[in-house]
Amino acid sequence: MKVNLNMMERAQLLQIMPSEGNRFNRKIVRKALDSISYSEAELKVLGAYYEYACPSNTSDGKGRMVLCDNTGFFAEPPTCGKHNLAMMPTGNLHIPPSPLLYSECKDIHLGDEALRVIHERFEILNGGEKLTDVLIALEAKIFPPEEREKE
Ligand SMILES: [Zn+2]
Repeated sequence: MKVNLNMMERAQLLQIMPSEGNRFNRKIVRKALDSISYSEAELKVLGAYYEYACPSNTSDGKGRMVLCDNTGFFAEPPTCGKHNLAMMPTGNLHIPPSPLLYSECKDIHLGDEALRVIHERFEILNGGEKLTDVLIALEAKIFPPEEREKE
């Protein structure tokens, strides 16, 4: 199935995807995440900033390691001024607010198994009274109510 989602909706969907499961589910979820996640090109257009940290750890001479506290969000890989070392990405990302998040839409391909996983997540959130209006709107987009009534 194809669902046309804007970038904000994709971010919301990413947030509700399970971060753990069984071997079978993980395969399905990883494949779905590839489809839902922003591509490198999209991140560039959004002006995403990546977090980097200085990898330096030096001994203080008394057998204790001292880690460099130089971390921050940068558009390009920076160098630590204190240690003249290339800083390493931590995997954290900051995406500045942008109208593109609402205007840029993409067809997201979701297989039956991925839809089953997503449906389960919505059911869990619903059971726990954790659904927000935003999530209810997203659910209606992925699982249109008129189709559910036909069942
Ligand atoms: Zn440093």
